[in-house]
Amino acid sequence: RLPTIYAITPTYSRPVQKAELTRLANTFRQVAQLHWILVEDRATRSELVSSFLARAGLPNTHLHVPTPRRYKRPWLPRATEQRNAGLAWLRQRHQHQSAQPGVLFFADDDNTYSLELFQEMRTTRKVSVWPVGLVGGRRYERPLVKNGKVVGWYTGWREDRPFAIDMAGFAVSLQVILSNPKAVFKRRGSQPGMQESDFLKQITTVEELEPKANNCTKVLVWHTRTEKVNLANEPKYHLDTVNIEV
Ligand code: UDP
Ligand code: MN
Repeated sequence: RLPTIYAITPTYSRPVQKAELTRLANTFRQVAQLHWILVEDRATRSELVSSFLARAGLPNTHLHVPTPRRYKRPWLPRATEQRNAGLAWLRQRHQHQSAQPGVLFFADDDNTYSLELFQEMRTTRKVSVWPVGLVGGRRYERPLVKNGKVVGWYTGWREDRPFAIDMAGFAVSLQVILSNPKAVFKRRGSQPGMQESDFLKQITTVEELEPKANNCTKVLVWHTRTEKVNLANEPKYHLDTVNIEV
């Protein structure tokens, strides 16, 4: 049986949310043995996401945790609490049985994922890494590989990061998540862009990383970002004869 891929997706309410989730579900539905952990940035589960998941045709877990207001700042890292809620759920679920083979990765709702990426990450033994497109002010960032080992990073931004890699650029085996029960994303002392490094530092070393995507020479995931929608012509009061979920 294939190792299960657990995709943790933080998501928040905004005009494009359902469009993003639709695109993501259409990708995930083509991946065998994938479990989607969707974590809403809210105090309660939303009706939109609940009914969306009910029809998505994917094994899923629907969680929610609101980001404290003091952390909702453009310069602070996003989705820390949501990713941790996903990790907590995984650990809880596997606390009693010896872990089935599994792989975890963090799938932001606005990125673009090739299907090949899932084949690559499925064979993760501990922690695997690969290039990410359209990130860090460059066309791509990637781990530099020599003799099958990661020896550095091709990046245009803060090369001093211990793991100069985007959230979309790595996967972790379930076994590693369970044997490092305290590894979480930190708010305190976390600098911008250091989330990945702070987390990976707790569970692995650079020497141990497993390069995927042909020794990190292929881009299989893109850090795309969706343009803010223009709602300038929205009426102030509800004018239509029906209430439509968008
Ligand atoms: N996100 C969230 N709450 C927020 C902002 C973002 O849950 O207040 C989620 C978002 O849906 C996405 C992830 O966190 O899945 C990363 O956010 P975003 O894509 O805006 O970050 P960036 O593209 O700038 O790295
Ligand atoms: Mn994004």
